Amino acid sequence: MKFNTKAIHAGQENESTTGAVMPPIFQTSTYAQEAPNVHKGYDYARVGNPTRTALEKMIAGLEGATDGICFSSGVAAMDAIIRMLKPGDHVVTTNDLYGGSYRLFTEMFEPYGIEFSFVDMTELTKVEEAITDQTKLLWIETPTNPLLRIVDIERLTTLAKKHDILSAVDNTFASPYLQSPLELGADIAMHSTTKFLGGHSDVIGGAVATSNKKVIESLRFQIKTTGAVPGPMDCYLTLRGIKTLAVRVQRSVDNAKQVATFLENHPKVDVVHYPGSKKHAQHDLAKKQMKDFGAMVSFSLKDDSTEAASKMMSNVGVFTLAESLGGVESLVSHPASMTHGSIPKDVREKAGLMDSLIRLSVGIEDAEDLIKDLEQALNS
Ligand SMILES: *Cc1c(COP(=O)(O)O)cnc(C)c1O
Repeated sequence: MKFNTKAIHAGQENESTTGAVMPPIFQTSTYAQEAPNVHKGYDYARVGNPTRTALEKMIAGLEGATDGICFSSGVAAMDAIIRMLKPGDHVVTTNDLYGGSYRLFTEMFEPYGIEFSFVDMTELTKVEEAITDQTKLLWIETPTNPLLRIVDIERLTTLAKKHDILSAVDNTFASPYLQSPLELGADIAMHSTTKFLGGHSDVIGGAVATSNKKVIESLRFQIKTTGAVPGPMDCYLTLRGIKTLAVRVQRSVDNAKQVATFLENHPKVDVVHYPGSKKHAQHDLAKKQMKDFGAMVSFSLKDDSTEAASKMMSNVGVFTLAESLGGVESLVSHPASMTHGSIPKDVREKAGLMDSLIRLSVGIEDAEDLIKDLEQALNS
């Protein structure tokens, strides 16, 4: 099956008693048993729920994995992956990382003795230098957030295999429509399904796709034991969103290209970060690794101040000033004070995250309206 077909049908069956085309929302906490432990595959809804199973099979199908495992949020999915490690273990990850991931790693796991090195993953030698005998995981995020650098998944997973290290890719920014980490050698693809997969800014969720038996076993055991499960309604909404993933993301990408070109030519704009731009440092890699260039665009202003960025962002009308991304509606945000507020200023600036940096999640409205909106906000 090709992708557009998979997004509708992967792992999906019509419901057996009624023929319902969409899986019912199995709003139940438990399941009747015929005799102790004799049941139809479900015993308690923390462990499993048919609506969740339908979503998990879809996620597996989209990522070309044997298994999908869904969580109550993206950070819950990451939390479970890192919990596979033990005190003394070491993780190498990128220095341009989703703020919530940085907070989870440094505030939750470092105190428990798991160590993290944050390096520029666009340089393979820096990653190789950071690897020690204790390194158990490469945590990759690409395109990176919010600077939209592109990291070479295939080269990094090859390096991980050479050192017998697991590799995981946070595939949230690309979505499975644009990028397939498992095909590029990764053991794990992780998603905040809150973003492009759900696609309508109405549900929080997370997912992991993998074909690695040990990882599957560990994550299934963890979700049963620690309980970060998504409810059936949330699974239904996410699955509903996924049905239109391919058309939504393609249109958002087409709009993002036009928005990026507009920004590149605007006199008040300093640097535009968009992998689709020929000026982007990893443009060729993006072309090779991704099906298209994504719906995220970020840019800094010549007047590099929080005030200038705030003024622009308070004047948008079609865009909405809000955290998050990947929905049908266009959003604008200020990473330095919002999503990346938990990263210390000196760490942020070292990575190139300027005070005036503005991040756009381009939705599926008409590109002309989006550009007009940005133009009036920049000129106001
Ligand atoms: C939003 C996001 C997360 C966290 O997901 P939640 O669903 O908000 O918990 C992780 N990684 C990336 C890249 C994200 O954008």
